Formats: sequence, C-alpha cells, structure tokens
Amino acid sequence: MAKIFCVANQKGGVGKTTTTVNLSAGLAKLNQRVLLVDLDPQGNATMGAGINKAGLAASTYEVMLGTSDVATARQRSESGRFDVLPANRELAGAEVEMVELDNREKRLKNALATVDGDYDFILIDCPPALSMLTLNGLCAAHGVIIPMQCEYYALEGLSDLVNTIKKVHANLNQDLKIIGLLRVMFDPRMTLSQQVSAQLEQHFGDKVFKTIIPRNVRLAEAPSYGMPGVTFDPSSKGAQAYIAFGAEMVKRIKTM
Ligand code: ATP
Ligand code: MG
Repeated sequence: MAKIFCVANQKGGVGKTTTTVNLSAGLAKLNQRVLLVDLDPQGNATMGAGINKAGLAASTYEVMLGTSDVATARQRSESGRFDVLPANRELAGAEVEMVELDNREKRLKNALATVDGDYDFILIDCPPALSMLTLNGLCAAHGVIIPMQCEYYALEGLSDLVNTIKKVHANLNQDLKIIGLLRVMFDPRMTLSQQVSAQLEQHFGDKVFKTIIPRNVRLAEAPSYGMPGVTFDPSSKGAQAYIAFGAEMVKRIKTM
C-alpha cells in the first residue's frame, strides 16, 4: 500500500513543485518506488521531471474525467527514476467539466487506488489554489506536506489552508493529517529567516520537519535541463537537503 502525500500551499511560488520533484528523486535514491502526480495545469512538475508536457497522449486530465487510467497515462522520469502522471493546461478544463460528475472530490482517489500496490510513495503536486483540483488531492492523501518560506508573510494564509484540511478531514477524508511544515528557500544569513523559523517551531512543534531546504541556485537551474536538482547536481546543498528530507519521510511513515 502506497502512502499518499499532497504537497500543498495555496500561495504561489513557495516551492511546492521543487519539493515534489526533488522529494520524489530523493526517495527514489533511497530505493523507494515513487509516483509523482502532477495536479497543476502549469505542468511544471512534469517538465521538471524531464517529460514534455506538450502533446501528452494521456494525462491527469483524462484520468480525472475517467477517459484514461493511471496505468496508461503514467510515464517514466528517466532522470529522476520515478513514475509521473503528467499534466498540462488541459487540466484546467477538468475543474469545470467535473462539476457534472458524481463523486467529484474523489476522482483522483479512486484513480490512484488502481496502482496503489505499485508504489511506496505517491506524491501529489498541487496548484496554488484551494480549488476542486486541490480538493481532489486532499481527498486522495494520507497527509499534507506544506512548504513554507521563512519570510514575514509566511503565516498569512496558512490558517485558510489548515481550515480547509480540517474540513476535508471532518467531511471527506478521515485519514488526512498535516504531516509537516517544510522550511524551504532558507537563507541562514537572514535574521528574519532565523526568527520566522524559530516562530514556526514554537507554534507547530514536531509538525515542523527537522530538515531545512536552503536557497540553492542549483535547484532552480535543474528544471531547464529536465532534471530534478537531486540528480542534476547530487553534491549541491539543495540536493543533499532533499535527500535528507527523503530519509526523514521514510522514517516518518514508519510511525504513521
Ligand atoms: P506555483 O505556486 O506556481 O506552483 P511552486 O510553489 O510550485 O509555484 P516552485 O515552482 O517550486 O514553487 O518554486 C518557485 C521558484 O523558486 C522556482 O523558480 C524555483 O526554481 C525556485 N526555487 C524553489 N525552491 C528553491 C530553492 N530551495 N532554492 C532556490 N530556488 C528555489
Ligand atoms: Mg508548482
């Protein structure tokens, strides 16, 4: 049985996709079988895993609408050594088209159930919105990983996300919990980063992951080569941090 995690934060550009792609590659390095689900019409995770999002034969879109299945639509990220359920802008249409369908919050959950035995981890890259797509991610998952930048506005909006997760837990998915907050793009030279980081630890205790992902240009360069940072430059500080985060997640799921 795969453990399924959403990487979610409705704020844009906080490192969701970088985290999903590099955690997938980090887990693969630890011999875990991983499926990355691209649930964002931007298709950034698809591209970052080295898969061309233009002209996909089948994608998350078809899977959500039930005109294809995960086993058909998934592709291999050779650079990352994990599987990808790819997405592109077509997926934006699913949001509207699903309104007509039964059980529309659980389309992804039901689709993933068919490949559950093939993986140790399924990681879902959510779009920057609390939309029907994100709701499908939350309904499919056992837990949520929330990447956060340690900046002044970091906590703003967090309560909306936490409330949404609570509602989904109460009404749609009793398995769902917040696994943890991941500090990303961390700059240890900034006093503010240190302060916000300490505040997060104070407020959220062991819900804050021990691993901290530093700001590292190699992580930002890697997608243009169609590679996760973890494989693009394995010795870089960013890659090392995501591999450590993979190890922390493997340890975490043993206690879940
Ligand atoms: P969106 O909300 O648009 O989906 P996102 O939350 O998925 O965005 P990313 O695309 O992962 O965020 O990251 C935003 C930008 O920051 C990208 O250009 C990415 O390369 C860069 N970035 C992410 N993490 C790091 C890091 N640790 N160090 C340096 N750059 C980073
Ligand atoms: Mg993204």
